[in-house]
Amino acid sequence: MFVIVFRNRTIVINKGKAMKNRIGIDVGGTNVKIALVDDKGKIVYSNSVPTRAEMGYEYTVNNIKQAIYDLMKETKLSTKDIEGIGFGFPGQVDYKAGIVRNAPNIPGWVEVPIAKLIEDEFKIPTRVDNDVRCAALGELNYGAGKGCENLICITVGTGIGSGLIVNGKLVRGASNAAGEIGHIKLQIHDGPLCGCGDTGCLEAFASGPSIVAMAEDYIRGGKSTKFREMASGGDISPYIVCEAAKAGDPVAKRIFTIMGEYIGVGLASVVNLLNPEKIIIGGGVADAGDILLEPLKETLKKRAMKIAGSAVEVVPAQLGNTAGVIGASLLIES
Ligand SMILES: [Zn+2]
Repeated sequence: MFVIVFRNRTIVINKGKAMKNRIGIDVGGTNVKIALVDDKGKIVYSNSVPTRAEMGYEYTVNNIKQAIYDLMKETKLSTKDIEGIGFGFPGQVDYKAGIVRNAPNIPGWVEVPIAKLIEDEFKIPTRVDNDVRCAALGELNYGAGKGCENLICITVGTGIGSGLIVNGKLVRGASNAAGEIGHIKLQIHDGPLCGCGDTGCLEAFASGPSIVAMAEDYIRGGKSTKFREMASGGDISPYIVCEAAKAGDPVAKRIFTIMGEYIGVGLASVVNLLNPEKIIIGGGVADAGDILLEPLKETLKKRAMKIAGSAVEVVPAQLGNTAGVIGASLLIES
């Protein structure tokens, strides 16, 4: 095996071996990650291009097409060597029709028939699904969920999303909207306003922005904290609060404990409903590790019903930010 790393590209050349390859594409608000994934779930080539949503979706699609041509050129593969192309999108996606319905963080991506646009260009079967569902597929096949039949993969970042695997299959639901764990209601009246328009949702209590809101509340209340010093007059970010918690700041630790409790309570309902064997936790906020996972696990254990609660294991995601491209590459088969 021979590995070349050049700027943002990585190429692994396995000489003399015919492999089944698929392309996985993870579209984010800032960058589009593109990878060639082999039949063992290994990334053999990767690249990224800017999303530049403000230029219109056609601009991003053209960049993606060019990146696919670059991939084929640099790996010396032709279209017939590629079994399929899968896309993960952060938003509402119609898997059957291959259409991105809307992606709140990527303005302009409304009713975009991305599968057809790519199939027309390359004549390679193309599928598209929600990005967290792609991450769940990746973790199920090659990460923390290997060997599981029933699992929930959640990502905690700006919002809380999930991909559900029930009886070995990805759950999409009647209108491709299944898995919105972030909008489990935790409060009937007068709860905090959520991005979905309702109030009292899990995501409105526990996500990146709520960490910042809690931290700012403590500062306004005159509490002396490490994160106040660390931000040194600038904006507070979830990362700064996390670093302060890791350095032993009691207020920052308390914020992550509250976050873990909210997510644990939300997950208790999901565990009672679906009886999964594993809950895999990923996303930017989850990088905090045990300061979030410990209170989460403790709350889940206390609040879930006994039989379902004792069957579930909570573990961190294994594939990190490659789960999206690896999972997207698996859409062709699922
Ligand atoms: Zn909501």
